[in-house]
Amino acid sequence: MNHDIDVKKLRINCFRQSKVPGEFMLQMRVPGAIIDAKYLTVIQEIAQKWGNGTFHMGTRQTLNAPGIKYENIDAVNAYIKDYIKEVEVDLCGVDMDINDKGYPTIGARNIMACIGNVHCIKANINTYELARKIERLVFPSHYHIKLSVAGCPNDCAKANFNDFGVIGVARMEYDKDRCIGCAGCVHACEHHATRVLSLNAHGKIDKDYCCCVGCGECVLVCPTSAWTRSPKKYYRVIIGGRSGKQYPRMGKMFLNWITEEPLLQMFGNWQKFSAWVMNNRPEYIHGGHLIDMAGYHKFKELILEGVDLNPECLVAEDIYWVEAEQRANIHLKPLSKHKQAGK
Ligand code: SF4
Ligand code: SF4
Ligand code: SF4
Repeated sequence: MNHDIDVKKLRINCFRQSKVPGEFMLQMRVPGAIIDAKYLTVIQEIAQKWGNGTFHMGTRQTLNAPGIKYENIDAVNAYIKDYIKEVEVDLCGVDMDINDKGYPTIGARNIMACIGNVHCIKANINTYELARKIERLVFPSHYHIKLSVAGCPNDCAKANFNDFGVIGVARMEYDKDRCIGCAGCVHACEHHATRVLSLNAHGKIDKDYCCCVGCGECVLVCPTSAWTRSPKKYYRVIIGGRSGKQYPRMGKMFLNWITEEPLLQMFGNWQKFSAWVMNNRPEYIHGGHLIDMAGYHKFKELILEGVDLNPECLVAEDIYWVEAEQRANIHLKPLSKHKQAGK
């Protein structure tokens, strides 16, 4: 093995070290997880020319080519120059230098997304368009953040398990004159959502507004379009979710019913918040941990600084994770009968 290999630098460059000495896997970003199918020939070329001939669909929706030898990395970096320009600069509007050196950082991970309203009937939003808008606010940056965008509260994109998860929600509008009292929406909400609808004595719908999650199941089943999604787009923001070896946990709701402009303003503050926590020295620490280090209230203050929240937006007063605050007290013990069985 070449002992001069700087693995840390290559990782920043979006190459991951292999268990085979001297080999690496390239991870090409696909922000929002949709791009023109013509780019499959790019990963095919890399895999067949410099990799081991296989292709891996990255768990964060990157296009991965394993088995690239260290001595070929410069050639691969030069080859992906056009891909980076077309995807990052042309599609996402990222402000970055384009050169033969490949990706400048792995800090902000590829922004994941479900397919959203380009295909899914349940979707409230266009997920890839939002992901691309967020991409230009968080990339390139050496501060680590994992983000995912889901088109509806079904959360196929696992937004609940990312540093930041954005979920498209909709406010439903009810036109009682169109309602024929079939109760289809009541059953749909009962089976798929939060049971907040009921049929009243007049054959019309009553709704408990407290707990509507804005999923749109009621809209999908209504035969007369008495329920419709409001044209204005809304989002829910989840923070602090993560997988990983140390204290994996589900995220918690930070904002609900935020509109797009303040949402993007908030992401515009991410790098500044991270710099504050890390004292301007980026390290390999992910966003959820940065929130833990700052504490929720400081995080809230900095991330919402200058953000012009829409009047409907609700903000969590407090967020508390037992996994962060009481980590010293988390112990696993065998039940006494297992102890005995193990004797
Ligand atoms: S999260 Fe919702 S919009 Fe996205 S794929 Fe799943 S059901 Fe469809
Ligand atoms: S949008 Fe609200 S009312 Fe409609 S099904 Fe979902 S939770 Fe129920
Ligand atoms: S599904 Fe539509 S028509 Fe049927 S009860 Fe609900 S709102 Fe009324």
